[in-house]
Amino acid sequence: MERLILHADMDAFFASVIQVLKPQYRGQPVIVGGPGERGVVSAASYEARKFGVHSAMPLWKARQLCPRGHFLPVDGPACQDFSRRALAIYQRYTPRLLPISIDEVCLDITGSQKLFGPPLQIAREIQKAIYDELGLTVSIGLGPNRLVAKMASEWQKPNGLTRITADQLPEIFAPLPVSKLWGLGPVTAQRLQRLGISTIGQLQRISLLLLEREFGLMGRHLYAASRGQDDSPVPLYDGKREYRQMSEERTLARDTRDVELLSLTLLGLCDHLGWRLRREGYQGRQVTLKIRLADFQTMTRSVTLSAPTDVDYTIFQAADRLLRSQHFGAKRVRLIGVAVSGLVQDGTPVQLSLFSEGPGRQRRLSRARDDITSRFGPDVISRASLMAG
Ligand SMILES: [Mg+2]
Repeated sequence: MERLILHADMDAFFASVIQVLKPQYRGQPVIVGGPGERGVVSAASYEARKFGVHSAMPLWKARQLCPRGHFLPVDGPACQDFSRRALAIYQRYTPRLLPISIDEVCLDITGSQKLFGPPLQIAREIQKAIYDELGLTVSIGLGPNRLVAKMASEWQKPNGLTRITADQLPEIFAPLPVSKLWGLGPVTAQRLQRLGISTIGQLQRISLLLLEREFGLMGRHLYAASRGQDDSPVPLYDGKREYRQMSEERTLARDTRDVELLSLTLLGLCDHLGWRLRREGYQGRQVTLKIRLADFQTMTRSVTLSAPTDVDYTIFQAADRLLRSQHFGAKRVRLIGVAVSGLVQDGTPVQLSLFSEGPGRQRRLSRARDDITSRFGPDVISRASLMAG
């Protein structure tokens, strides 16, 4: 039986939640983001998008475009609550479910059709339930795998419903710009551009051999993704929120070229990230550094560790090495971030190297600090180097 995957993505989530909770903002341009003018837009209501405001745009620019908009901070607890309630709705339709982010989820509904009817009917029922029970709209994509379903969910928004079948794939994919491919970052897109490849159709004509030579492991992903191939499963949902990655980032108070200042900021981010990983019971082996330059060009660099970790300092060492191997030239940095991915649950047996004494000690240290943090709050302990400044 052909797999059937449904990808659901709630529309303008952070802004919509505010409009549901505070009726005075309904029908109004709402721009959520911050804090401060140097932050970016997390979400813009569709009323605000008419003015050209969109997410990831700097807040000062959004203010220029939409001076009469309502600028509000993200209501974290309310969004978490709506996200949990949406998950409960999705779970009525399948036990195979993977939360991708706070407002996106992927469902395997291959086996759900006998009980709930054809896929379009399931999708419409989900949209109705989300609207009736939460007051939110959700855009849904249906496809033979996660990659295609995700791309279909972006086809029409808001409140969209798009199905892409396996035989429509080549025709629909070919004219799209490569940047539309899921999992393809702007750096790879630029490299492809330089090779004269701007559409997915052009990418389809490049051999696997050539792509692997040019892009390494990413080349294999490009080859499969350009054909709409993706065999990643949707696991059974165990009620715990599944994270594919966890990240922390910070927009600096001022753009800087000072590597030591960036390194110090990174240390603070890794501290918090490690604490979150341990709290949620995850470890990860891939560490990614994200840098956004003053001109908003964003780059990411990753490294894979020999074993999964949740230790602040191990994450920091890896990220710091990536930071110091970067050459920004004359450019200043406005934002720095770190992510840990390839996450496994704490309980998963992990093969430790015989000589990995260090991390064990670091780990116990981190846990001791967590104990104190949970008793006295996060501000009691800071690393000595954080206090120095
Ligand atoms: Mg969304």
